[in-house]
Amino acid sequence: MEIKTISQINEKIDKGEANIYTAEEFKKLIKKGDVPCFEEVDVVTCGTCGVMSGTAAILNFIVSEPGKFIRAREVYLNGVPAYAGPCPNEWLGSIDAILHGTTHSIDDKNYGGGFLLKELLEGKSVDARVESVDNVSVENTITIDDIVRGQLIGTRMAFKNYTAFTNPSNEAVSSIFAATPLEGNLSGLTFSGCGDLNPLQNDIPHNVIKEGAKVLLNGSEGYILGDGTRSSPEKPNLMLTANYKEMDPYYIGGFKTGEGGEIYNTVAIPIPVLTEKIYNNLLITDEEVSLPVVDIKGRHFPLSETNYHEMWGGYDLRPRFNDSDCNKCQTCLVEDVCPTNAFKNRKFNIAQCFGCGMCTNFCRHNAFNMNTGDVDLEIDDISVNIPIICRQSDRLRANKLSLKLKQLIEKKEFSL
Ligand code: SF4
Ligand code: SF4
Repeated sequence: MEIKTISQINEKIDKGEANIYTAEEFKKLIKKGDVPCFEEVDVVTCGTCGVMSGTAAILNFIVSEPGKFIRAREVYLNGVPAYAGPCPNEWLGSIDAILHGTTHSIDDKNYGGGFLLKELLEGKSVDARVESVDNVSVENTITIDDIVRGQLIGTRMAFKNYTAFTNPSNEAVSSIFAATPLEGNLSGLTFSGCGDLNPLQNDIPHNVIKEGAKVLLNGSEGYILGDGTRSSPEKPNLMLTANYKEMDPYYIGGFKTGEGGEIYNTVAIPIPVLTEKIYNNLLITDEEVSLPVVDIKGRHFPLSETNYHEMWGGYDLRPRFNDSDCNKCQTCLVEDVCPTNAFKNRKFNIAQCFGCGMCTNFCRHNAFNMNTGDVDLEIDDISVNIPIICRQSDRLRANKLSLKLKQLIEKKEFSL
């Protein structure tokens, strides 16, 4: 069996002769029947973007001059509670805190750690409030420049695809797996997973995606710490880390769900094509990546099965907003349901958009247009057609970060 070594691939990269594809480019060639052979592929950059609950940031920042309080007991950033410590920083006015991406503001459950981490990276000011063990209350405003050190850790990231949910009961169910309570009677389907672009899906036996390997996490160079929590051979995921301050705010942010604010992240991982076995794993396409459809209540009861081609094949990645069709209604349901607040004050900010599709279902006047598709399923021996109403993964961001990783490797700014 033929093999290549990392040094041979690195030598080709140095000479500008390496053949590097993003997963999207590679899959398109497979679909066209024009896929390059093992010898003609050196690296494939794979990516995924989605709601990843197990995200926390370790932040160190200054809130006051030294000597004002002993150490922090409670920390709030824009009203979002963070965990003080573990370092006490006695009398320094300096705070170490761990902020969970899933923690909600004490004032608004739709605002939380995910939104806050994006806003800090965008350069926005954040209100910091510290209650100390000696009962001193300190309030200040901080920006990213006041964060002396920030590190993001994801305890469960980049799942090898996931699950689709629908609601067979006759009442709406509120869940983190839908942007709003999911109506009953199988009226809609919500799903996560980037299908054949997902890194672990392209390296199922973990030939190269393993502890110590490098990744791009929200645009920042990071590492795989090992398997994520609840990772199993059938449903693997990864524990990842990277420097928070070097992240690009485009790739990280908050995502409102029926149960309040969550957080999304984007991950890209290079797969060096060292052996034919690694190459063969990369030949998988959306049609072959199965997707279980489960009852949103109870999650573990499979109702049916489909595949990722049915979720993504040929459908739109972003909506088109036609301002002249927008009635500027007094109350806008789109503003209420848009999980990333991409529609605010009747203005569409495409850079904030996640492509979830909710706006097309909720706009009363068809100002938003987007084909998110529908799927034919067999449930209890009955054929049903269910519209896809909410995506909790974003292929556009996954593709963009995979392309950025490819370019960084080509420019020798990311070594394998
Ligand atoms: S519901 Fe639709 S038409 Fe009405 S304000 Fe919102 S986007 Fe515009
Ligand atoms: S697709 Fe629509 S609802 Fe979803 S994030 Fe974009 S603007 Fe908001």
